[in-house]
Amino acid sequence: MKRKTSAIRRNRLIKIVATLGPASSTPERIRELFMAGADVFRLNFSHGKHEEHQARYVAIRSLEEETGRPICVMADLQGPKLRVGTFRDGSIDLRPGMSLRLDLDRTPGDSARVCLPHPEIFEALVPGAELLMDDGRIRVRVARCGRDYADTVVVTGTKLSDRKGVNVPNLVLPLSPLTPKDRDDLRFALDLGVDWIALSFVQRPEDVAEARRLIAGRASLLVKLEKPSAIEHLEELVDMADGLMVARGDLGVEMPAEDVPSLQKRIIREARIAGKPVIVATQMLESMVSAPTPTRAEASDVATAVYDGADAVMLSAETASGQYPLEAVSIMDRIAKRVEADPTYRTIIDASHADPQSTSADAITAAARSVATTISAAAIVTFTTRGTTALRAARERPAVPILCLTPNIDTARRLAMVFGVHAVQTADVRSLNEMTDKASRIAREDGIAVPGQRLVITAGMPFGTPGATNVLRIAWVEG
Ligand code: PEP
Repeated sequence: MKRKTSAIRRNRLIKIVATLGPASSTPERIRELFMAGADVFRLNFSHGKHEEHQARYVAIRSLEEETGRPICVMADLQGPKLRVGTFRDGSIDLRPGMSLRLDLDRTPGDSARVCLPHPEIFEALVPGAELLMDDGRIRVRVARCGRDYADTVVVTGTKLSDRKGVNVPNLVLPLSPLTPKDRDDLRFALDLGVDWIALSFVQRPEDVAEARRLIAGRASLLVKLEKPSAIEHLEELVDMADGLMVARGDLGVEMPAEDVPSLQKRIIREARIAGKPVIVATQMLESMVSAPTPTRAEASDVATAVYDGADAVMLSAETASGQYPLEAVSIMDRIAKRVEADPTYRTIIDASHADPQSTSADAITAAARSVATTISAAAIVTFTTRGTTALRAARERPAVPILCLTPNIDTARRLAMVFGVHAVQTADVRSLNEMTDKASRIAREDGIAVPGQRLVITAGMPFGTPGATNVLRIAWVEG
């Protein structure tokens, strides 16, 4: 990618993920979203055709060429989203106490029965189990069940219509998180060249292992946490994933809404300890789907994710299908900047700082953070091949940007999702002098530092050796 000297610099540490959809798919609109502050674009494979995702992808990569900035693309796989079939009249009325049979008969349903075309659910159901439908608006309890049916009693709900979603919160279903559609979408997304693959409805560590094998190092793997069983395996999943998403939409259906705030904090804490990027997603500015300004509660929700030290906040329908996609990104950008300028923010982030692990990389990056604070450096600079050092630097949650210099465009793109990282693709250096000269020049060109300011540089010697962080140097930015 050709570098531009007037490179775009975000004056914010947390990143913004914008989902693309019908409201945001022209090259001009994608460009506007990027200029407004979107760092990562999410292609949501629950909707849209391959040609549509491909056109978005091509527009993003040509925007990269135009701006000279690496842009991160995340493909979000649908996963085994469960749905009821259709009804003869499009919907049925429900009332508590009423009976409703679920079965495998694909003919349109009526007020007595409807198809649930997932034999795996019937294998796992037991009397007393509860199913939620339509984002939790409907709750039914299983009275009797067999291999191809379940007789349920409605607990809450007034209306069920065609193809509404179904959640089975408290059972681990014998389902792979990769359906045949997901496998097809995964192949397509990897061939496009996306940077992250997000895996939906992960239930167990084995689910991640299978996806990891299929991805084979061609993208980083993000685990969406939305199932109670995933929360039970949180530590192992954090360990196995490259990144995490607090997928509050389904999480808030599968678990009581009152559990979501503390789970959000717990997931962010675990991800920060592990040094893996974590995104807070869903309904962040939901009312902006149809209104030009957010509610106070939504502004406060975005702010909470920033105070929690998340790597990124995500917009879904707000940018994919809403009426005010640019306004949503702009207000998210402004809220994040306002929080990061609040002295209380730094106090909270520092108080929740994870201790360094006993590795050279952590010793050097922890020292870099402390030196940067002591000398009021303009930035921490990391020379990195695979991005590991930049991730360890981000784990420190420094108050200054992390200028990440890498010869590898894939690394630069993947890191665009990470807290504080401003990644630049540039050739490897061969000497300490070249290292300081290059760091100083790029920091100046990209508006990260001005002449007379200092940089704290970390690198691994011999240069270009992955995982060998062992150098810390202070450099003046030359005029
Ligand atoms: C969520 O459930 O919060 C989420 C991000 O997943 P989906 O892709 O289903 O919106």
